[in-house]
Amino acid sequence: MSEFVQIEQGTAAVNASGCPSNFSAKDKPDWDLYSTCIHCGLCLNHCPTYRVLGTEMDSPRGRIYQVLQVDAGRLPIADSFVTHIDRCLGCLACETACPSGVQYGHIVERARAQIEEHYRRPLLTRILRWAFYKKILRDYHLLAQSARALRWYQNSIWQSFARKSGILKLLGLAELEKLAPEIDERFFFGEISMLIPAMGKKRGRVAFHAGCIANVAYSSLNYATVRLLSFNGIDVYITPRQRCCGALHAHAGYREDARTLARRNIDTFLDGSQHYDAIVTNAAGCGSNLKQYGDLLAEDPQYAERARIFSAKVKDVTEFLAEITLLEPRKKFQSRVTYQDPCHLAHAQKVRSAPRELLKAVGATIIEMPHQDQCCGNAGTYNVTENELSMKILSAKMDDIASVLPEAKLIVTANVGCMLQLNAGAQQRGINVPVRHVVEVLNDCYY
Ligand code: SF4
Ligand code: SF4
Repeated sequence: MSEFVQIEQGTAAVNASGCPSNFSAKDKPDWDLYSTCIHCGLCLNHCPTYRVLGTEMDSPRGRIYQVLQVDAGRLPIADSFVTHIDRCLGCLACETACPSGVQYGHIVERARAQIEEHYRRPLLTRILRWAFYKKILRDYHLLAQSARALRWYQNSIWQSFARKSGILKLLGLAELEKLAPEIDERFFFGEISMLIPAMGKKRGRVAFHAGCIANVAYSSLNYATVRLLSFNGIDVYITPRQRCCGALHAHAGYREDARTLARRNIDTFLDGSQHYDAIVTNAAGCGSNLKQYGDLLAEDPQYAERARIFSAKVKDVTEFLAEITLLEPRKKFQSRVTYQDPCHLAHAQKVRSAPRELLKAVGATIIEMPHQDQCCGNAGTYNVTENELSMKILSAKMDDIASVLPEAKLIVTANVGCMLQLNAGAQQRGINVPVRHVVEVLNDCYY
């Protein structure tokens, strides 16, 4: 039997007034969560979808109101509700802006779990979601095979044929195809189970979570991360049997699959055979979800405590390096850069100063762009599923970036998805400025 269970049909629920709710009991957005919203509207102008669309239904306050209506039994989980919840990036800029401490991320993830249970998407969408979330992300062999097929396409004459012949345009895939990550020749999967020893005097030991797609696309970033840690006196153990963190599953409404993955990661990272100071990741979305295992498994009597222990150990690589302080690099990076805060680092993990401190420590000067913590529109799979809106959000981001060019010579961020999106934005605008991860910039200084 598959370890990835079918969505468990929840039992019918009642709302806080004791009336029937249109949500079911499992993973229900509860009154305790959404009633903290005082409808002040201070979040509205921080919300990228509200800024682009200008409609209350596509604002944080509007989405919370719709959740309340569904819970009150007055709004069905149907096309309108699904559209407005789907359009949310999950960027959590609204959580940062909210004076009332609304945990919007918890609300929207639960709303999406309810949609997954109660709403039937079109057949093709269901097939694609099943293949991606239930198969490819679950099985690293299948992920590697799919990546090889994509790499073959990217390196064959078929790619230029498809682009030049107009087939992609005809199929409505021209924009999406450009957003596909470039697949690496060497996958990082081969490094899983390896111990990369510290160079010089040992200062600590970490376990590294390598991500899922990051093993096949931008895998050079994973290599740079373990090297940078090693240069800084850290033993890096690339824990065996590790799995996808489940962030994409949780954001798409597959909370049970996210829980299964979380249990697998907890079992392997906390198996007691190794001691380490932190569980390190270089992907903001993964880090944010790994830190949420405590919430995800709060109702699981076997895992709740271990999930809390696991989450307390998780650190973004920039957070970890800023805490231990960098060793003196071999050379300095004397350039002016602009830094884009990844949403899941700035808003979800509240990590803003560490990447900047590290860049300054190696000699970089930071030219702050306007709205530096506004989403770029990537948001995991959002740039595929909500491509048109994602491109509008990216366009606003590129306006902000363009305003600090040419003074800034490099665009730096701290998340692979943002790199992909900003690269696409730079290409669209004809901006000839490279986009790099903080880790890559730092790593170059130690060679
Ligand atoms: S998570 Fe982002 S897109 Fe969604 S409501 Fe909040 S600010 Fe808007
Ligand atoms: S800022 Fe917070 S309390 Fe105010 S409307 Fe937005 S979510 Fe509600």
